[in-house]
Amino acid sequence: MIGWIAAGAAAGILTALGAYAVRGRSSQWLCTSYWRGRPNVPAVALTFDDGPGPATAEILSILDRYGVPATFFFCGENVERRPELARRVVEVGHELGNHSYSHPYFCFRSREFIRQELHRTQAILEQVTGCRPRWFRPPYGIRWLGLQKVLDELGLVCVTWTVIGNDWKWPGPVVAEHVLQRVVPGAIICLHDGRETRPEAAADPTIEAVRILVPGLLNRGFRFETISNLLCWTSSNNA
Ligand SMILES: [Zn+2]
Repeated sequence: MIGWIAAGAAAGILTALGAYAVRGRSSQWLCTSYWRGRPNVPAVALTFDDGPGPATAEILSILDRYGVPATFFFCGENVERRPELARRVVEVGHELGNHSYSHPYFCFRSREFIRQELHRTQAILEQVTGCRPRWFRPPYGIRWLGLQKVLDELGLVCVTWTVIGNDWKWPGPVVAEHVLQRVVPGAIICLHDGRETRPEAAADPTIEAVRILVPGLLNRGFRFETISNLLCWTSSNNA
């Protein structure tokens, strides 16, 4: 009896460890993952995944109103659908990241599949915007075997987040309050200007959250940085 209980407990612990390894925001088991900046600087990085999407244009105008930068992790398929928005993001000075081509789950997928997803998006982003991203955010936060090797080949670095807004399921004010309660110096904040690769999706909660969050964080004394600046990333880091 005690043996069965011990076996059950061990299986539960292994399952939890496996889930953390694959999806934990700070997990370093399957690839090096940056999830926060320096805690001694009152700066945050606002990041958006799954675009360009229905919320991108309005988010750009809010960021412009306050003169703050952000980092956009785009899906290649969405860039093909809205190339003019991807170009605008770069033209007005924001940073680009790679969020895969089709936003798949990487669990149990081959290294070659992962490589194709990331490589295709690098090529599309470079062709459309002239910029080749250095940052990668994994769809659903899932890191898998072979990902680190692919990132190394493509010169990409994985970034997760410190605070995620759940803006795909919560109303804007709830998202904003959730983030404001958890934000710390050096925080990487994750929101979504699209919803996976769906052409049309609810954009209002994210837009509403950004309208509250940007002035809210400025009022608390935070400044906004791109991921590269928040992490003080220079070419020597990448040597
Ligand atoms: Zn995503």
